[in-house]
Amino acid sequence: MVKTANYMTLWGRVFLIAVLFNTLLFPHVVNLQKAIIKKGELNLFFSSSFNKKNVNHFTLNNPHREIYDLKNTRLGHKRVPLGLGPNVRIAQNKKNTVRVVISGAKQYKPTAYQPFFSRNEYHISLPRNAKALPSEHRKQRTVKKTEKPKKTASRTSASKYSHKYELIVIDSGHGGHDSGAIGGGKKEKDLVLQIAKRVEKHLKKRGYPVYMTRRKDHFLKLPQRTKIADKKKAVLFISIHANSVPKRKRNKIQGVETFFLQKTRDAKSQRIAARENKSVLKGTNKLSRNVIIDSVLSGPKIVESNKLAIDVQRRIITNLRSRYRGVKDGGVRHAPFWVLVGASRPSILIEVGYISHPKERKRLFTPRYQDLLAKGIAEGIDNYLDNRKKEIDF
Ligand SMILES: [Zn+2]
Repeated sequence: MVKTANYMTLWGRVFLIAVLFNTLLFPHVVNLQKAIIKKGELNLFFSSSFNKKNVNHFTLNNPHREIYDLKNTRLGHKRVPLGLGPNVRIAQNKKNTVRVVISGAKQYKPTAYQPFFSRNEYHISLPRNAKALPSEHRKQRTVKKTEKPKKTASRTSASKYSHKYELIVIDSGHGGHDSGAIGGGKKEKDLVLQIAKRVEKHLKKRGYPVYMTRRKDHFLKLPQRTKIADKKKAVLFISIHANSVPKRKRNKIQGVETFFLQKTRDAKSQRIAARENKSVLKGTNKLSRNVIIDSVLSGPKIVESNKLAIDVQRRIITNLRSRYRGVKDGGVRHAPFWVLVGASRPSILIEVGYISHPKERKRLFTPRYQDLLAKGIAEGIDNYLDNRKKEIDF
């Protein structure tokens, strides 16, 4: 060491000392500047050369998740997305560790590599159904190269992230020639559209982009509704309905109920689920039953949907009870035969009340009641998504 130093110029020695000093006190921290989904892979872009020895990969179960901890890495900017579509979440887990969480079925075994053409990138293969977000969203995800990591970056800042990449699809049940349930001359299709528009308003106020399956009184086939959510790469699918019972029971049955939904593409499971779910769903009308079954059949995420349903139901009831007496909590419901396969967005169906119940019907068509209901739905969605971000810090 001394001998080597003897051959060095004064500047060489100063440089060597500076490098050693720097590595000892400040390990090389890179910024994660951009994250996009391309050709079935998550592409991560760093501010400078990224050492793949910084990656710690492990698996967590229930639900199955693949975790990539990127040491000596910081989120370059708050606009690096926390969630890219329904399968990927990225957050500053520790001061210098960025955590990437990819959810998918158990059979999903990711491969990760550094492309030969760039040391500033790292690629992770995704489960097959993970797709890129619309390009206009992606464009805004890039961050400025000049941005320096902030020393104060902390794991508690997750809830302050913006919601602008979390698109929510709000589905108003029925429409057009399909009135849905009818009570006292009032139609379900009109009621649910009025409430959906208020939900949209409350979500937008909180910074969420919203897509409505319908804004007017027209008919949409059931599969079209869930297809929209796929096409738009929504993070959540919320279907709004109202319930009814036959005349002889109309004064007895009332209340708000939230169903959580799970789907599979397998035809055999679809038939079994449809048969199994039939008796469970006997109480609901045929159309909402079809919506439930359809939704059950094309999206998994049972645990997530259940959590979402609990948060939404709780916020609806709290809001309504703050101003109205005798609001009945019908609770969160699910069918017993729902298999967890693959990965899609959490989906719920809210039965906002019984249009057949004279007193509840009157309330349901009151602007103030509708607004409390809508506010509750928006708050429930917000609670759920914020908790989901905190989970990344486990
Ligand atoms: Zn309905």
